[in-house]
Amino acid sequence: MNIAIDGPAGAGKSTVARMVAERLGYLYIDTGAMYRALAWAVDHHHVPVDDEAAVAALLRESTIALRRTEDGQLVLWNDQDITDKIRTPQVSQYASVVASYPQVREQMLQLQRAMAAAGNVVMDGRDIGTHVLPDADVKIFLTATIEERAKRRLAELAQKGISSDLHSLKREIAERDKRDSERKVAPLRRAEDAHLIDTTNLTLSQVVDRVMQICKRTGEADS
Ligand code: C5P
Repeated sequence: MNIAIDGPAGAGKSTVARMVAERLGYLYIDTGAMYRALAWAVDHHHVPVDDEAAVAALLRESTIALRRTEDGQLVLWNDQDITDKIRTPQVSQYASVVASYPQVREQMLQLQRAMAAAGNVVMDGRDIGTHVLPDADVKIFLTATIEERAKRRLAELAQKGISSDLHSLKREIAERDKRDSERKVAPLRRAEDAHLIDTTNLTLSQVVDRVMQICKRTGEADS
């Protein structure tokens, strides 16, 4: 079974996807981390972020790998561990810029499909149910109010020792959502057959339970 989890920034996709994968013994694939890795490299190597051809060339010449470890997932760019470097607001903004480039998305699509080819994956992102895995057995679309999403991001950043404020986080998230929803290629959109879960007033374990119930029902219907 393949499970696709999409939704806007800060809706809880990664945490939910990781926990669902753990419970099912599936492989978790964080596609946002792949765009973030490229965004980090663009910044690190001083590639002009508005130059699509240069950004796409950088990706073509490089490797991105997600490596599972005891306590999470490592993000490797050309074998360099950049896991702790890709969660900054700067990388978030750059990620949604590079993610709007068709030449970048095409390469990412191939990489992501290859990663999911063996099956039994939980993949999260923006276009998984609509483009990357349109035949996924279970599709989930997670949302929450922007206020709630900004609060969660603030707490997440604080935990990593990065200080921020609610107002600027709200603005950054809104900007990113707009860019992700309005881009021409594979915009953020709920697949018609995706289950919508509004997580605003739900705890993490309630969301995970709902996703697990949907997976169970799908598994039973298929068998
Ligand atoms: O999910 P996360 O916030 O880590 O994703 C960072 C950025 O990567 C998003 O704002 C979006 O622009 C891009 N992205 C995408 N398609 C995906 C996953 C992420 O465009 N499947």
